[in-house]
Amino acid sequence: MSSLNSALPSLDRLPGDQDGLLQEAARRATRYLDGLDQRPVFPAPEAIAGLQAFDEALPPGPTDPRATLALLDAAGSPATVASAGRRYFGFVIGGALPATVAASWLATVWDQNAGLFVASPVATHLEAVGLRWLTDVLGLPAGVGVGFVTGGTMANFGGLAAARHAVLKGVGWDVEAHGLFGAPPITVIVGEEVHVSLLKALNFLGLGRERVHRVPVDGQGRMRAEALPPITGPTIVCIQAGNVNTGAFDPADAICRVAHEAGAWVHVDGAFGLWAAAAPGRAHLAAGVAQADSWATDAHKWLNVPYDSGLVFCRRSEDLRAALTHSPAAYLHEGAPREPMECTPELSRRARGVEVWAALRSLGRAGLADLIERCCRHAARFAEGLAAAGYEVLNQVELNQVLVSFGDAARTQRVIQAVQQAGVCWMGSTIWQGRTAMRISVSSAATTEADVELSLQSIVQAAARS
Ligand SMILES: *Cc1c(COP(=O)(O)O)cnc(C)c1O
Repeated sequence: MSSLNSALPSLDRLPGDQDGLLQEAARRATRYLDGLDQRPVFPAPEAIAGLQAFDEALPPGPTDPRATLALLDAAGSPATVASAGRRYFGFVIGGALPATVAASWLATVWDQNAGLFVASPVATHLEAVGLRWLTDVLGLPAGVGVGFVTGGTMANFGGLAAARHAVLKGVGWDVEAHGLFGAPPITVIVGEEVHVSLLKALNFLGLGRERVHRVPVDGQGRMRAEALPPITGPTIVCIQAGNVNTGAFDPADAICRVAHEAGAWVHVDGAFGLWAAAAPGRAHLAAGVAQADSWATDAHKWLNVPYDSGLVFCRRSEDLRAALTHSPAAYLHEGAPREPMECTPELSRRARGVEVWAALRSLGRAGLADLIERCCRHAARFAEGLAAAGYEVLNQVELNQVLVSFGDAARTQRVIQAVQQAGVCWMGSTIWQGRTAMRISVSSAATTEADVELSLQSIVQAAARS
């Protein structure tokens, strides 16, 4: 070691910390976070105009790394959306827990390729620990396989790839080797409220975004189990745990029973709703979900880890590995350790399992349950406060999503714009079963009761003016 050390330049000259660059980044990052809740949630027009500072010619040669960081902070930080702050309720966007941000910094310095054990023992090991803990808190069957992917879209892709493998293998067709040309047809069943990312994944897999059988839904967007078509032949049934508008769950129990009796595969898109299983007070919403065959969820939504981070689980890990490995012979080795790249579309990738591990370790079982429960309570308070002010809540608020109408479509849009301009909080719009609505999604651990009250005030004032 000592001879190696003497061959290296002095510590302050190592790449990455020349002239205290990382200290400088930490100082700027801290200042950013400290100011986050005092500024408008969406950047001011001047801040967006200020992005022109980046429109320079490519420098002809090297420049001081500190100057690059300074420009990024000066022109970039003001033009960010404060979704890391406490009052961002747009789309379904989680915050980032302190332990996950800090762990992410360290893991970035490590610069590991998490695709395989020999490239990163630590990343591979932490994925294995994460799998054990996730299986537990999400109530999934023992022995499930996992892939650490970029997000819900690729998690749906992974789960559906495993499904495609298994249902065609069942009729003697090797889809990985021979593709879909000449293959027996697969029936894909989705709910009328299927998320667009799942259709996109079907498109990637050659199953076709429009070649699906759509099952009617109820007023909350839940698939009607009794409306499932008769199932014969290779079939994949896609259900939702958490509708992106209402937060509602498809009746997993009934659908899994019918589908499994007919030999079909059930895939669950649980991008955020799957986390309900981790909170004792909400777990009943996800009843039956564990009977499925594959599950997609996001860690960057409700687990509050930095982007990008999704998880695909598969009841039989062999199906996931068969669908995603590049070397069909390798994964069959008896007792071979799990190689991360066999469970994801990517080979080389960042060690995103580090942040998942850090979130679970820093929260613990009770902390995770409390994070989920608190977001649901905040959502209920939003619904109660807006209903009391005379506005119509369009969904049953059982999870973290709230849909509100302020009258006709034009007025609802005006209110949403006025709220966004006021800058106290940020909510977007959606169309729910033909009606324009404000969609409120409470998905950040940072949001407090006081933030909800402040945001309610801002919405009610905006509605009074619109
Ligand atoms: C967000 C979401 C997705 C897509 O996840 P990404 O991480 O954005 O790719 C899929 N399904 C549902 C229900 C979602 O809410």
